[in-house]
Amino acid sequence: PSGSEPAAKIVINLERLQQLPADKAGPLARYAAAIQSQRGDYNGKVLSIRNEDLRSLAIIYDMTPGDLSDQLVEWGVLPPEARLARED
Ligand code: C2E
Ligand code: C2E
Ligand code: C2E
Repeated sequence: PSGSEPAAKIVINLERLQQLPADKAGPLARYAAAIQSQRGDYNGKVLSIRNEDLRSLAIIYDMTPGDLSDQLVEWGVLPPEARLARED
């Protein structure tokens, strides 16, 4: 995969996501809710998503995947290891 893509597993903190203002987290919250619905996975405190989904989300947020993962770490939605996993 290309350089700016984080290699670590993407595990979203759903409780933290719910605490963020909707103008920031809205697109991510809707994406996570759609995945939960497709899986029938409603009871978790965290949600593992595809690395490919981070690239789709980066397009939605108009950021590189690496910058988006940094942003998600700053919001507390991803653990700090996600930032360290950057390859670039
Ligand atoms: P699908 O992509 O055709 O996957 C069918 C089933 O294969 C999934 O059913 C799941 O049991 C398994 N599967 C596919 N990829 C993985 C994987 O990387 N890890 C694991 N542990 N299992 C995998 P499931 O979970 O009921 O999902 C149904 C459909 O919902 C999926 O069909 C897909 O279209 C969508 N979906 C679910 N989770 C995600 C996700 O994280 N990202 C995306 N883009 N779509 C998802
Ligand atoms: P893990 O991947 O480190 O996940 C630890 C725990 O985080 C899981 O415990 C579960 O409570 C939660 N978790 C992580 N991702 C999700 C998610 O997308 N949805 C929900 N609802 N919860 C999530 P759990 O379920 O007892 O699983 C223990 C370990 O078993 C996992 O550790 C992983 O190593 C393995 N495992 C479970 N399901 C899968 C899977 O679909 N694919 C793979 N490869 N391993 C799995
Ligand atoms: P995981 O289940 O441990 O899967 C790790 C990686 O193995 C996935 O990374 C993907 O590259 C590959 N993989 C696993 N199962 C399949 C499959 O059925 N088809 C294909 N083409 N590849 C597969 P990825 O895609 O980044 O997903 C990361 C994690 O997100 C998965 O870890 C799993 O916890 C979750 N996930 C992704 N898609 C689904 C899904 O459709 N359903 C469920 N329940 N979980 C998913």
